[in-house]
Amino acid sequence: MKKFPNRVTLEESRTPKFWYNMLADMPESHDPMLNPGTKQPATPDMLYPVFAEELAKQEFSKERYTEIPKPVRDYLMTFRPSPLYRAYALEKALDTPARIYFKYEGQNTSGSHKLNSAIAQAYYNKEQGITKLTTETGAGQWGTALSMACAHFGMELDVYMVRVSSRQKPYRKAIMETFGANVIESPSNLTNAGRQALALDPETPGSLGVAISEAIEAAVSTQNARYTLGSVLNQVLLHQSIIGLEAKEQMEMYDEYPDVIIGCAGGGSNLGGIISAFMQDRLTGKAKPYFIAVEPAACPSLTRGKYAYDFCDTGKVTPLAKMYTLGSGFVPNSIHAGGLRYHGMSPILSKLYHEKYIDEARAVTQSSVFEAAVRFTRAEGILPAPESAHAIRIAIDEALRCKETGESKSILFGLSGHGNFDLSAYINYNEGKIVDYIPTDEELEKGFASL
Ligand SMILES: *Cc1c(COP(=O)(O)O)cnc(C)c1O
Repeated sequence: MKKFPNRVTLEESRTPKFWYNMLADMPESHDPMLNPGTKQPATPDMLYPVFAEELAKQEFSKERYTEIPKPVRDYLMTFRPSPLYRAYALEKALDTPARIYFKYEGQNTSGSHKLNSAIAQAYYNKEQGITKLTTETGAGQWGTALSMACAHFGMELDVYMVRVSSRQKPYRKAIMETFGANVIESPSNLTNAGRQALALDPETPGSLGVAISEAIEAAVSTQNARYTLGSVLNQVLLHQSIIGLEAKEQMEMYDEYPDVIIGCAGGGSNLGGIISAFMQDRLTGKAKPYFIAVEPAACPSLTRGKYAYDFCDTGKVTPLAKMYTLGSGFVPNSIHAGGLRYHGMSPILSKLYHEKYIDEARAVTQSSVFEAAVRFTRAEGILPAPESAHAIRIAIDEALRCKETGESKSILFGLSGHGNFDLSAYINYNEGKIVDYIPTDEELEKGFASL
């Protein structure tokens, strides 16, 4: 007998009006960003040519709460609160005594949590009188989210899309263009960084690193333009805290507090989001949920990376951040979970992991991820993004462990997005063509050499 519904939302009056900043409750902050030239700590004004001033300030903020501006909140309310589900059917399929919950961020047109930060970043730029944004996109989720946000505020947007993705994912490109964005295949001949890359190899598939360098160069050399980034940064984790703040209220509606909280980690924004309110409880001694970060075995920054200062991009134009990294020169294998192919990790999450507040990180292979994704789809009827399916893999593993031990734990995981634009990945899986790839220590050493 089900005592509670399959999913809950939240009344408007209970939805968050403030973002929460984990730095306010961490016993020690992460090491500061450094200016790569002087090795001195970076300051907000150093970032003004690149980011809107309010966003640059948020990058350094230790304020516990930041009020969500009304125009941002009004927009968020068009697709939030995102629903929290109890996965009754999956529990039954697994025959587990565990109770499995997931917070689903795929119910907006862009299809992932990235819209939560895109709308905030577009807003602060608009407020400052910026008329044009630039960004890069790999898998396409961030570019789509920012296209929606720019359409809403009537801003121009140039998206530098990694060449191989723009050819493999024509639908992502089409949706960005429909929202009015200008999608440019990267490397392009519009920037020095792009021209250099093309001169080196006209047939290059492109990379996120080059696309970032192009987008930053375009922003700083265009009047009234700024650059935006969809993950890793402290400002992005701040905007994503809304996921965890909602989830905690929604778990209460189920009379629950999660024993285990699981999220996939690329640059760390959806994981930082879902853990936010629960991490506050952990940091302030109110509760002790167990946190697990899940990453691809092909790009194992937490499980096999080094905790060191590194550039956030391959072109080495950003400040240095202290984080778990595989080296900015590391080129991850082209797995289907494109959103998890990033060499570094959010400095906040890196610090939490280093101090063992994030209890564990696990690396999983593609084939095991798709096996979990298909099991989940058949039970719950939602096609997950390959990135999100990393969290599903570990949620299922934990639930199966409960079956062995007889423990009845409550498990919460973040379902960061849907996989409706990732059907070529599912076709590959269905045809038995998924290959697992685990870099050797020697291959990782090449990336570390770039540190
Ligand atoms: C971008 C993306 C990710 C990875 O980015 P994080 O910043 O680590 O959250 C995960 N899931 C989905 C659906 C994404 O679009």
